[in-house]
This record gives sequence, C-alpha cells and structure tokens, in this order.
Amino acid sequence: MIKGVVVAGRRDLTTYAYRKARARFLAESDVCHLCGHPGADVIDHVHPVSRGADPKDTSNWLPAHGVNRCPTCGRNCNGEKGASQRTTGLKTSRDWYM
Ligand SMILES: [Zn+2]
Ligand SMILES: [Zn+2]
Repeated sequence: MIKGVVVAGRRDLTTYAYRKARARFLAESDVCHLCGHPGADVIDHVHPVSRGADPKDTSNWLPAHGVNRCPTCGRNCNGEKGASQRTTGLKTSRDWYM
C-alpha cells in the first residue's frame, strides 16, 4: 500500500493533485467551450502550455471533449483542435478532405 506511493514518487503526486483539481473543475462546469455541449472530460488550456502557460493555472482552463468524444455531436473537440493546430503549417493534400 505505502510501497506504491513511494514508487510513484513526487511527479505522480503532482499528477494526482492535477487530476483532483481537474475533476473538481469539470464537476463545476462540463460544457465544452469548443462545441458548446455538456459532457466535457478534459481540460483545454486557453494559452498553450508549450508557450509557457502554467498547466495548473485554473484561470487558463476550459472544459473540452477528449478521446471519449462529445455525447451530443460525437466530436473529439480537443483532439481536433490540436490536429488543426499541428497541420496549419504543413499543408498536406489530406487536409483538403475537410
Ligand atoms: Zn465538444
Ligand atoms: Zn458537441
């Protein structure tokens, strides 16, 4: 029991705190900011963490749908957003299907 905590280490404790904060955040509001439907299960960061935003700053959080997809429109909103950001500068022919 205690062994698991020791093995997990400090990094996982941070992750645990983050998960708890995220669960509380989504419990308060789970309306996806991308499609406007309820049932969001992930946090989207308004300012990208990759550009220096604090991943744990709740004022930078918005609910979004992740891999479990929106129960209303079926979109993976956060995943689609990430995909469109990633392909912006690539201009592959595949993008024209959209
Ligand atoms: Zn959504
Ligand atoms: Zn939706």
